[in-house]
Amino acid sequence: MSLKDTPRESCERFLDHAFDHLTVSPEMSQLLRSPYREIRFELPLKRDDGSISLFFGYRVQHNQSRGPFKGGLRFHQDIDLEHFVALAQIMTWKTSLLDLPFGGAKGGINCDPGTLSERELETLTKRYAQRISMFIGPDRDIPAPDMGTGPREMAWILDACSHNEGFNPAIVTGKPVELGGAPGRLEATGYGVAQITAMVAAERNMAIEGATVAIQGVGNVGAHAAGFLSELGAKVVALSDSHGGIYNASGFDVNRTLELIAQNKQRHKSIQDLNSDFDKISNAELLELEVDFLIPAAVGGVINEQNADKLQAKTVIEAANMPVTCKADAPLHENGTTIIPDILANAGGVTASYLEWVQNRQRYQWSKEKLLENLKERLQRSWNLVRDRSAKDNLNYRQAAYVIAVERIIKAINLRGF
Ligand code: NAD
Repeated sequence: MSLKDTPRESCERFLDHAFDHLTVSPEMSQLLRSPYREIRFELPLKRDDGSISLFFGYRVQHNQSRGPFKGGLRFHQDIDLEHFVALAQIMTWKTSLLDLPFGGAKGGINCDPGTLSERELETLTKRYAQRISMFIGPDRDIPAPDMGTGPREMAWILDACSHNEGFNPAIVTGKPVELGGAPGRLEATGYGVAQITAMVAAERNMAIEGATVAIQGVGNVGAHAAGFLSELGAKVVALSDSHGGIYNASGFDVNRTLELIAQNKQRHKSIQDLNSDFDKISNAELLELEVDFLIPAAVGGVINEQNADKLQAKTVIEAANMPVTCKADAPLHENGTTIIPDILANAGGVTASYLEWVQNRQRYQWSKEKLLENLKERLQRSWNLVRDRSAKDNLNYRQAAYVIAVERIIKAINLRGF
């Protein structure tokens, strides 16, 4: 038996834990688990050297009872349909918890974008968009960035879909600002992670100023979380990428360090190649640091049954999707570790995507300040609900978040009828 549960197993069990506190018929339980639609298709690509590579494209649409499907596109070599089923389900709970008029979806391509040229990536992304074009749209399913994708890929998708549909920027969110993207969307997930961390600190009467933070993954989410947390006065002591991490007990000059990391990345160098006095640590060591806040902001499943007992952080803020497996969740709670679940901690991204979609439909652009202010209010409201439900029903934060989200979905399904 594998010690590490799969994303889908984790998802199923987290849902079971919510059902323990709800009255759900077996039929409704089955409906909530199973995706509405699962799409998998071939994506052959002629490479720059003339050879052919075969990739697969995926889009899983989980639930649309509260509005069109919504969820990111991930380009990563270790991804398959089962993984997307789990990630799509998480999106349904996330949009519901944040009370957004969306359902949940997820998709992408099983490729390592780092090994493809820009031309190859553009061809692959546009071909992907053409193949799913009949299933997406501003009132059907709205993709957004996730791991391995960003504004550039969203622009390519917008372009591919515009040939048949006409220019409709609401077809995708997380676009470049020049093409209807919302100022603030790029940094929104990391901003949300930082704000939620500050809300948790406030709840404990603990100063965020000087609180120690370790962040795994300095991509879009991790880097912006580090920047905003540092603005709030927190002490970021560890950062990493897929090759390993760096540690500085006195805290980094975050802006300067992020600049250096970005320069290194352009030269295809790792964070550990930084010319600095910082200590080098492995990703495993980063997760075991004694810090106030541990923020996994990279891949899923990094905190699992094999390392859960080694964690020393008081609080884990799930910036990544599903970084803590279900098998690790229970022992961590028993040890008194607080876990702020992904469906709240990283919901800044989809909430800002919603605000981008709203602006696109009005053909109007807000300022970045207005977007971040609106986002903060929405996160505060959702955090208050989760905190209060947790206290009222004696649930941990993940259970409380799931219960609130699932209750709303069940209500919508019943109101719409069958
Ligand atoms: P990204 O591709 O911009 O960055 C990922 C980072 O993680 C990179 O620094 C990479 O080197 C590092 N990494 C990859 N594999 C690793 C490993 N095995 N160990 C340690 N580090 C590793 O991705 P992102 O958009 O920042 O997304 C990160 C996480 O946040 C994902 O789980 C994603 O689903 C989640 N998320 C992203 C958004 C968003 O708006 N981008 C929104 C919600 C949730």
